[in-house]
Amino acid sequence: MNELKNLPSVDRLLSEAALQSLVAEHGRTFVTDAVRAELTLVREAVKGGAALPSDDAIAAAVAQRVAAHMRPRLQPVFNLTGTVLHTNLGRAVLPESVVEAIARAARAPCALEYDLESGGRGDRDDVVEDLLRELTGAEAATVVNNNAAAVFLLLNTLAQKKEVVVSRGELVEIGGAFRVPDIMRRAGSRLVEVGTTNRSHLRDFDEAVNAKTGLVMKVHTSNYAVQGFTAAVPEGELAALAHARGVPFVVDLGSGTLVDLAQWGLPHEPTPRESIDAGADLVTFSGDKLLGGPQAGLLVGRRELIAKIKKNPLKRALRVGKLTLAALEATLTLYRDPERLPQRLEALRLLTRPEGEIHAQAERLLPVWQSALAQWPLDASIEATLSQIGSGSLPVDRLPSVALVARPRGKRAGVLHKLEAALRRLPMPVIGHIAADALRLDLRCLRPEDEAAFADRLGGLK
Ligand SMILES: *Cc1c(COP(=O)(O)O)cnc(C)c1O
Repeated sequence: MNELKNLPSVDRLLSEAALQSLVAEHGRTFVTDAVRAELTLVREAVKGGAALPSDDAIAAAVAQRVAAHMRPRLQPVFNLTGTVLHTNLGRAVLPESVVEAIARAARAPCALEYDLESGGRGDRDDVVEDLLRELTGAEAATVVNNNAAAVFLLLNTLAQKKEVVVSRGELVEIGGAFRVPDIMRRAGSRLVEVGTTNRSHLRDFDEAVNAKTGLVMKVHTSNYAVQGFTAAVPEGELAALAHARGVPFVVDLGSGTLVDLAQWGLPHEPTPRESIDAGADLVTFSGDKLLGGPQAGLLVGRRELIAKIKKNPLKRALRVGKLTLAALEATLTLYRDPERLPQRLEALRLLTRPEGEIHAQAERLLPVWQSALAQWPLDASIEATLSQIGSGSLPVDRLPSVALVARPRGKRAGVLHKLEAALRRLPMPVIGHIAADALRLDLRCLRPEDEAAFADRLGGLK
């Protein structure tokens, strides 16, 4: 107890050289708070019978505390999960040209809602509307915070207190609580399900449309596939039916890449242009899934419908900021040169990485992986694996890839979770995937330019 009298004062600790330099870097207030918090801990420990640490030891603990508090929560990580567009890891990684556009918009005032021709007030959607029209064939476009917001705004504007006819097979739930029936209810629309889980026919829609119908809607089943005895009505037929009955036909595409991915050996994913060409009046899609840009929800389609949507006061609540618009403009601009997209659009570059290139990378990294695991009861190897595209895109198709693999010797599944946690605690966390009694680090998303840094980090594994 007597030791408590010798507890250093806040001022005495702050005069230590190590803490003086922390004060110079982070400010007196912040460091003083850390000193107080550390002293409280020490006081409790000493009361409990522990020996009083030296001033140096307390100062070192304060320095650790400050460092931990200063580390950004939004930490960059290596996404080696095998899911390229991983929602929990921020979906699409942006190309450098897009990152620069964001920095430019952040650094100086920009003509966000200002018409430089007339000097009058502009509309922030103008930043990307021409590009979206050009790339989708739609008459008009508007942008909100994400696709969930786009769907919500569309329903709330065009079908409040009205019925929305959707196939029962398309009532999707997207990870993170986007569910079509819930969004409908919140938007004030009444969901009318038609057909069955596996089959819907034109006559089902025909019978459901009546005077209370506000919209006929198609939702792209982006994260699952119904296979076997199935039937869905083509968009062109739904559009024709809706128009004959005087209601708009709208499509929630979800992913919405702007080009045919089949040209690079990837599975074909429906594009907004295909829906527009088939007669859709409005199409909604995300900016950060296969499009490869920032988080955003895009609405494209008929001019008068877009105009109505923009007049909804909720548009103001759901609008995007200048950083998003800058990123979106720069991303969409890349689509004007589709031949070079796989080199320039980061998401597509990762999705189209040749298996041979990933394999060569795995062979180079295998010795590093083996030596990192030398002290672990694990066998290190490289194995073929299959990457997923992710973010509710193309659920059935997998891309051949190669992974660094750790398998426990004998029956010791617990060790995999220890390894997974150790990888997560590296200075730049490495996120892998445990399945079938092995931990895999899928190398598809380890960019060649990051390989050396990654190998370096693995060396620090304990
Ligand atoms: C992903 C997705 C959404 C939600 O989009 P967010 O951009 O995540 O808000 C909605 N509908 C479909 C069909 C989707 O695939």
